Amino acid sequence: MLRVRDAWEEQKHPRGQPKNPGQFASGGGVSSSRSAPSEQPAPSAVKKTATPRKVKAESGTQAAKASAEASKARIDTIVAEYKSSNKTLVEERKAVKDIAHAVFEYMGIDKSVGYSTEWPRKFMVGDKQYETGGWFSPKDNVVTICTNTRPDNPGLPGLISHEAMHAKFEAVKKAYDLEDEKLFNDMVSERGGRKGVTAPDGKIRPEYQAEYPIHTVMPNGFGGNADTLRKDDGITDYSRAYWEAEATNSSDALLATNETLAEMARLDHEGSLPRLLWYKNSKSYKPLYEAIHKLYPTAVQMLQANSK
Ligand SMILES: [Zn+2]
Repeated sequence: MLRVRDAWEEQKHPRGQPKNPGQFASGGGVSSSRSAPSEQPAPSAVKKTATPRKVKAESGTQAAKASAEASKARIDTIVAEYKSSNKTLVEERKAVKDIAHAVFEYMGIDKSVGYSTEWPRKFMVGDKQYETGGWFSPKDNVVTICTNTRPDNPGLPGLISHEAMHAKFEAVKKAYDLEDEKLFNDMVSERGGRKGVTAPDGKIRPEYQAEYPIHTVMPNGFGGNADTLRKDDGITDYSRAYWEAEATNSSDALLATNETLAEMARLDHEGSLPRLLWYKNSKSYKPLYEAIHKLYPTAVQMLQANSK
């Protein structure tokens, strides 16, 4: 069993957090786009549709292994450069940010996801207290890493992977909800609905699958099998804390599922996930985890098209 050290715990709820109690004058609290200027095509070259996006390789495959090793090599270089620097606060924060971008790249995180830093905060999961290592804010689509994290902390890439997984979860969930709205309209004839979009078992019929990519892969959605997900958790003490809180109604199944998947992403980047029997045998979390990675680029495209 992997134990998460308190310093690396994070919280999921960005809403209702206290206002920023104070940040470093330099480096801290700066929210910025995660893409370096050199990575951005000239405005005239930007195509609004069909931007190819990377799909994270399935955990345990050779492609995933190669991708994780490349990410680790990149991070090792950043850490080595930081260690040979003057280790000023600016250099320290830059190294953490560069590591975040290396993990984002490995995770296939869209460039629309931002990066920010803030002071850590205490938070509760059920009756357990933790200190944030970072969090993801769905409202502004930003991953925040707390200012007490050092670039050479071995837990940092896993923490960033955890937060990046929350970004993926939220995007796919939002795209699912968009489809749900469309599906509802399709099922109500007064709204111009079409007959037979779904089969009697609730699955999308083949001729409509291109219109409903998320429902096609996830016909039961995210909470359809909460009982199974509750029973199957056990990957880390941290994710279990959410399921324990859920059992006493101080958390909900969707959040507990979200945290479990984020813990999987952390262990995935650290390399242990594909070796876990828990993962190999999982008939609930493994398909959900891989489906989210697979659907994420499509979900991002749907959300961006919807916001225009
Ligand atoms: Zn989390």
